Amino acid sequence: MTEADNLLVLDQAMRRRTIAVISHPDAGKSTLTEAMLLHAHRISEAGAVNGKPGRRGTVSDWMAMEQERGISISSAVVQFEHRGTIINVVDTPGHADFSEDTYRVLSAVDSAIMLIDAAKGLEEQTMKLFAVCAMRGIPLITLINKWDRPGLSALNLLDEIETRTGLLPTPMVWPVGAAGEFRGLLTSGIDQVTTYQHTVGGSTIAQETPIRPEDATQALGQDYATAVEEDALLAATGRTHDTALFLAGQSTPVFFGSAVRNIGVRTLLDALVSYAPPAAARVMTDARARPVNTDFSGYVFKVQSGMDTAHHDRVAYVRVCSGQFQRGMILTHAQTGRPFVTKYAQHVVGRERHTLDTAWPGDVVGLVNASSLRPGDTLYAGEPAEYPPLPRFRPEHFSYAQPADTSKHKQFRRGLEQLNGEGVIQVLISPNVGAHRPLLAAVGPMQFEVVAARMQAEFHTDVTLEPTRFTIARDLAPGIAPLLNGLRGVEVTTRPEGGDVALFEDRRSLAAIERAHPELDLAEPAHQ
Ligand code: GDP
Repeated sequence: MTEADNLLVLDQAMRRRTIAVISHPDAGKSTLTEAMLLHAHRISEAGAVNGKPGRRGTVSDWMAMEQERGISISSAVVQFEHRGTIINVVDTPGHADFSEDTYRVLSAVDSAIMLIDAAKGLEEQTMKLFAVCAMRGIPLITLINKWDRPGLSALNLLDEIETRTGLLPTPMVWPVGAAGEFRGLLTSGIDQVTTYQHTVGGSTIAQETPIRPEDATQALGQDYATAVEEDALLAATGRTHDTALFLAGQSTPVFFGSAVRNIGVRTLLDALVSYAPPAAARVMTDARARPVNTDFSGYVFKVQSGMDTAHHDRVAYVRVCSGQFQRGMILTHAQTGRPFVTKYAQHVVGRERHTLDTAWPGDVVGLVNASSLRPGDTLYAGEPAEYPPLPRFRPEHFSYAQPADTSKHKQFRRGLEQLNGEGVIQVLISPNVGAHRPLLAAVGPMQFEVVAARMQAEFHTDVTLEPTRFTIARDLAPGIAPLLNGLRGVEVTTRPEGGDVALFEDRRSLAAIERAHPELDLAEPAHQ
């Protein structure tokens, strides 16, 4: 690379913020994504999503919406610019399609927004996603949403964040007026308030009016005094933003707003630009960090099949880690050493696809019909690179599988081998039952549907699934399995690729075995 190329890549990487929004269904992720696009002038009016009944996860609704809007918020990634910075929002599938992919996506981002419904606080799916972010050391910015509606008190919400996540919450703005009586946002530490002129349904950017501290008491009365007091109290107890703590994943800057009314969204975007980390050097399998300004490298974090059902096509999503990506370049597939031609690079926006010609560190490239690529695989140019494999996440749903037609056993085996390798489902074999009736293990139940559909379409095999009573899985260290064999309430299984996994019905059966056999280490590992 020439010195000029080198500087260009570095500059582009510094301009990138690659993020995910982690939240529980209905907290407002789609609404927030839309509000961010509105601010970036990618769309001129928001609102089609809002309040649409029965929209949840149904494909036809998404498509209808895409057509209506001309842009999709169900995209694998949306990209927009704010204050000269390129923000890539990688979608974390939720709702009914919560799956291992949801977790894997988090390996592709540099930071995340933890979106919380002010009335509900931290909910189950948010906590699950939070745990993955914590494990990977992903810095989190918190947005407490729906402040236009009655909810919990701001201080209680902060308390909940602190006790349940262990993160130190550092408010960057503080709400003037309780949830449902929203008057404005106080900029933490400055005492200046911004008030917002509501637009109908938040369909356009809310007009912001700053109020100086000397005018605020008269304008906002007691609510202002309370906000100043609470803000000062939090500052006095050390809850102020500290960049090092934030980047180390130990504190979280907290924002308040209302995505549906477009309040507080600009402030959040400004924070992404100012505080969220840009694309930076990534650590490879050999523990060396590959700088961003070198030859191209990237890894596959998700493979999506059957988006275009007529063609059984597969899109491999690659997170660019270093260098410039140019469509047509010939890369090396690190896992096989084979060349990989990138003629069909696309930017996938919902059902629409645009040819993508160039991409930089932090960006996501969709490679169409990349049948040789699996999640975790590395592609590189020039100097060899290989990124660590993606972790397998702990499944919570287990079903026995067998071919509906026993004469199809060969296709059945081959199909499952393929889907296991692709990370669509985890295959486990119970020695008691045998390999002809493997256990399929999933993070979300929708993975079973995907398996059934793909086995039928690609391997011409109907699969019969039978749910089991197991809900907990623990990977076992070598040598532990024989000690568990024959114990009640536990089933020891093996992965076809090696490794033992113990399955338990519930926490009680796990706890009973832990009590009876304290010598077995079945504790939840800090890292999965
Ligand atoms: P998602 O499931 O997280 O993508 O949530 P959606 O964006 O679909 O929002 C779920 C519901 O909450 C919709 O009816 C939205 O209109 C509503 N909603 C989202 N943000 C806000 C907000 O700031 N205030 C209020 N009152 N409603 C909101």
